Amino acid sequence: MANHHPAPELLAAFSAGSLQLSHALCISTHLEHCDECRSNLMRLNSMGANLMEELKPAKASENLKSSVLSMLDDEVTEATPVNNRDSRVPRALQQFIPDDYDSLQWHRVSPSIQAARLCTDSNGSKVEMLRIKPGGQVPSHTHTGDEYTMLLEGSFSDESGVYKEGDFVVRDGRHKHKPMVTEDRECICLTVTDAPIEFTGFFTRWLNPILRRDHFAH
Ligand SMILES: [Zn+2]
Repeated sequence: MANHHPAPELLAAFSAGSLQLSHALCISTHLEHCDECRSNLMRLNSMGANLMEELKPAKASENLKSSVLSMLDDEVTEATPVNNRDSRVPRALQQFIPDDYDSLQWHRVSPSIQAARLCTDSNGSKVEMLRIKPGGQVPSHTHTGDEYTMLLEGSFSDESGVYKEGDFVVRDGRHKHKPMVTEDRECICLTVTDAPIEFTGFFTRWLNPILRRDHFAH
């Protein structure tokens, strides 16, 4: 049972279909683990349907109405877990991980951390799997954008709490954190990180400290 959930406004944006794909992927994965957010989503979806009902022109055809409603139904169905095969991989990720986690192209980030890229969003956000050994520690870091983490297996803790299977965690540039994986088992997470903007050209490199200072000043 998850203890950490996406904020209500994130779930509302998901329901409205206005999230970027990489973030929607993270939310879908959480929904497969979380009855509570699934029922909240259904409520949001039906609120959306009622709103459309009120907004429709007096003579909107029944056909239009039923096709809109069936689209919304599809969305609900999609968020419902259908585990039609024996897999540890969440359904939302199976398009990127057809077999199992071992079949991914893992590369070593540190002695205790491996990462595998699943895809890159159109805005440059990276969608990655992280696999961290029991007791492993992610070096202290901050973010220039948001970092979404969905914990799939194992657990970790940082300055703000303990996170377990199914938990959804958002960190942004204001957080400095140093997650540590518990000793009992390895930890597998899905992470989405917004690409940091960094100038590397000779004439623009001097802007970086200024941009960074502005960013972290907020
Ligand atoms: Zn939830």
